[in-house]
Amino acid sequence: MVDRPLTLMAVHAHPDDEATGTGGVLARYAAEGIRTVLVTCTDGGCGDGPGGVKPGEPGHDPAAVAAMRRQELQASCEVLNVSHLELLEYADSGMMGWPANDAPGSFWRTPVEEGAARLAELLRRYQPDVVVTYDENGFYGHPDHIQANRITMAALATTGMTSKVYWTTAPRSMMQRFGEVMREFGADWEEPDPAEAAAMPEIGLPDEEITTWVDTTEFGAQKFDALAAHASQGENIFFLKMGKERFTELMGVETFVRVQDTTGAAVPENDLFAGLR
Ligand SMILES: [Zn+2]
Repeated sequence: MVDRPLTLMAVHAHPDDEATGTGGVLARYAAEGIRTVLVTCTDGGCGDGPGGVKPGEPGHDPAAVAAMRRQELQASCEVLNVSHLELLEYADSGMMGWPANDAPGSFWRTPVEEGAARLAELLRRYQPDVVVTYDENGFYGHPDHIQANRITMAALATTGMTSKVYWTTAPRSMMQRFGEVMREFGADWEEPDPAEAAAMPEIGLPDEEITTWVDTTEFGAQKFDALAAHASQGENIFFLKMGKERFTELMGVETFVRVQDTTGAAVPENDLFAGLR
């Protein structure tokens, strides 16, 4: 037997992604006695500022936004009982096409090998059994999410000691329902223009391609509270409007695609640690 606790590491791009993408599994596995490590790659400086001031608007100060979001991230980690928070503190690159993409110190501009070397150090320190990050499109195309995938996969290739590796995803069957609820709660949600939608890579996966469905319903309130810790960000306010019950109903199962595995656990599986305990 190994002389260290079973360990889950989640690699995320921004403060708040840990809550939306993996709040359920972080809370659930912490409750099961598994050590949880969150790596947040950027400072979130391109997020909304105090009072809802948007990036690029007068008065938006990325350093002040980053400081505020760091506190929010710490509060979220407390709610989720994250054992260790590691910050890589690259500058938030903003959405694809923003000038921030190429700003000095931006995560997107950082050579993959450099970010991967720093992450590999953390992989060696914590020796996670399970690592979770985004897919190659960063789920929806955000440069920092894409970069998080790239440095994670590169770091894993150099360390080669992690049993199971997952990318977060969403079942296509849920995307429609998600759109319906979005319209119900957020008047500003618009269907993407069909031509635009056709040009974008599709988000999520067909249900039959999803390998791992983890029920985190029991931890819906914690996931909601973790997201509430990030209430400075406009897009989170939409989720909070749903209230805990509707939120848990919609977000209570977290889905993943398993991309590396040494355990041989059969898929579909309902546990990231299947085959490891
Ligand atoms: Zn993000």
